[in-house]
Amino acid sequence: MNTVAEALDIKITKTAESRLAQTDFSNLPFGKQFSDHMFIADYENGEWKNFKILPYGEIPLSPAISALHYGQAFFEGLKAYKHPDGKIGIFRPYKNAERANKSAERLSMPELPEEIFVQSIAALVSLDRDWIPTQDNHSLYIRPFMFATDAALGVQPSSTYKFVVLTGPTGPYFSKNLKVKIENSFSRASEGGFGFAKAAGNYAGSLLPAREAVKEGYDQLIWTDAKEHAYVEELGAANIMFIIDGKLITPSTRDTILKGVTRDAVLTLANSWGIPVEERRISVAEVIEGIESGKLTEAFGVGTAATIAHIAEIGLDDKLYTLSDPAGREFSNRVFKALNDIRYGLVPDEFGWNYIV
Ligand SMILES: *Cc1c(COP(=O)(O)O)cnc(C)c1O
Repeated sequence: MNTVAEALDIKITKTAESRLAQTDFSNLPFGKQFSDHMFIADYENGEWKNFKILPYGEIPLSPAISALHYGQAFFEGLKAYKHPDGKIGIFRPYKNAERANKSAERLSMPELPEEIFVQSIAALVSLDRDWIPTQDNHSLYIRPFMFATDAALGVQPSSTYKFVVLTGPTGPYFSKNLKVKIENSFSRASEGGFGFAKAAGNYAGSLLPAREAVKEGYDQLIWTDAKEHAYVEELGAANIMFIIDGKLITPSTRDTILKGVTRDAVLTLANSWGIPVEERRISVAEVIEGIESGKLTEAFGVGTAATIAHIAEIGLDDKLYTLSDPAGREFSNRVFKALNDIRYGLVPDEFGWNYIV
């Protein structure tokens, strides 16, 4: 850790008293527990500086910061896992670094060098390594984010920013198989917009539609294209995949779809197993026909927080379709295990996905 911290010249202030002993590791709902420390960097005069790790806590900010008024803010999400040999593996952090810069570019925010992104996370995770839970399907969730800090109310790109990293121990995001609704009036993203960015504003706009779906008895919704609501795009804040006729089919990425790291890993594993993969547009009609004919045998969401989330039921208008029993699904259960085996360091990391700390 020292070498990493030295490379970036990170000033480390350790907490006077760890909160670890008071934290109930048998109850870790997603995103509610934070580790002892956080990382902060400032962007000023065209460069990133003031790299610090300090105790997790409040940061003083002006109420005029432009992130609060005009939404110049994005985030990332990735995880660290404890391996049997005591080492820590962070799953594909350079992929998140690359995507962070795509989000930054679209939102007129500054580029963050990939090494700052990865090394800040590595230093933080190393310091708070005792916070990584070891029970099944648990990990340390890592939340890097950037936001605009100019205290000025004109609508224009900020000239100052903060990049912050928080971490926290977490269990699975979804604890059950999902009942989902195909959304055909609200939209998450449109052509020319910024659905491909992990922009904070994308999630604000999804809350009302998701709440409506919950009121109707669903767990989540399947987003469709904004123009016709005829093509499937994503599952809540996860990518969506289907097995139809023995082929793995997922919407091709475009500016309305977030390019998931988990999506990429699942497609890579499927390819390596010789399973036919199709990245293309997939219509709602094709999904419904597939369920009715029995050709659609699996439907699931893939994401860092969601891991692999089986879809058990799909609602469209007034109809509810029941899919095959998730317990018996061949591909999604196989890929869930294969991904976990790599992340938890139980098998050789043949794709070089684990960044070892
Ligand atoms: C984060 C996210 C995903 C999943 O991406 P991962 O890199 O696999 O975590 C998919 N869709 C949306 C909208 C997301 O926000």
